[in-house]
Amino acid sequence: MGHGRSLQWMTRRRAVLIKVRWCAISKWFGLEVPVILRNSEEIEFNTRVSKKEMKQVKNPFGLAITNPASASVTNGIALTPDCIEESILTCYWGCDVQELYEALQKHVYVSRISTPQALEDAIYSKYVYREQHFVKKNNKEEKYCQLPSDAKIEDFGIVPRSQYPLVALLTLADEDSQGLYDIISMVTVIHIPDKKYKLSCRILYQYVLLAQGQFHDLKQLFMSANNNTPSLSNSSPGEQSTDRHLLEKAGLAESEVEQYEENSKDCVVCQNGKVNWVLLPCRHTCLCDGCVKYFQQCPMCRQFVHEYFSLCNQKEQDKETQKSEGTVTS
Ligand SMILES: [Zn+2]
Ligand SMILES: [Zn+2]
Repeated sequence: MGHGRSLQWMTRRRAVLIKVRWCAISKWFGLEVPVILRNSEEIEFNTRVSKKEMKQVKNPFGLAITNPASASVTNGIALTPDCIEESILTCYWGCDVQELYEALQKHVYVSRISTPQALEDAIYSKYVYREQHFVKKNNKEEKYCQLPSDAKIEDFGIVPRSQYPLVALLTLADEDSQGLYDIISMVTVIHIPDKKYKLSCRILYQYVLLAQGQFHDLKQLFMSANNNTPSLSNSSPGEQSTDRHLLEKAGLAESEVEQYEENSKDCVVCQNGKVNWVLLPCRHTCLCDGCVKYFQQCPMCRQFVHEYFSLCNQKEQDKETQKSEGTVTS
């Protein structure tokens, strides 16, 4: 991803991939609220940054590749599901690309894909081999997926391909729990290397499918977090001074004080506030409520911020404050 270079100024921090349990989805009817950014001296920037209206949706499913470097078509792959309900993991080896995307369209227009059978029907069983695992609730037990040796498949041909090496479907095991979530299933498209195509193993796409028929491409947020093993070895002095310059421009260099707080989600600028803002398009999630207004460019990668949204809605925060203070307004 190439984020490494620009991260060095954060003395005791590193960017980590954190897959959030919920995903934020633009409200379908949502209007964007334009916001003009100002710095502390009230100097007006010309650029307008749109604040996105988002809706929080709880995702019962999670799926990660345990050790991507060791995965191959011939040796198999270890997957770690992480689900908050009992779920079924169905893996389709050599799944037809065209049929998969048509199946997602069917989910929108024809019938919802909430069970393995529904996907099976939607893709007309166009895959090479299928295996199924039961996933216990809140149990990150590794599942090993492997083509049987008698399938005699060593590769999925040269690119462009008509088959994905592996498509993993997560669905809720208990139909009663299906009504509890907006998200009814998750489709993960995984590339696994073979002798014809050695691109390293990775998740290509992850789609969450909603009960109302939409589906969304799940994106990971790059969240700043404390790193207790300080490492400055890779940073060049030039990079550090640029970063310092950036902080000085924002009038915040003084707050470059090292802190050792338990909170692993504190802001990369003031190093104190709770990280709450996702910057788009880079998806760095590194600023608190107080600092977000100082930045037109992401402090981690320098990309211009086109849009942003908060993880914890301000209104909700206010509501909670009111609740805890016992003042009810209606
Ligand atoms: Zn801050
Ligand atoms: Zn960024």
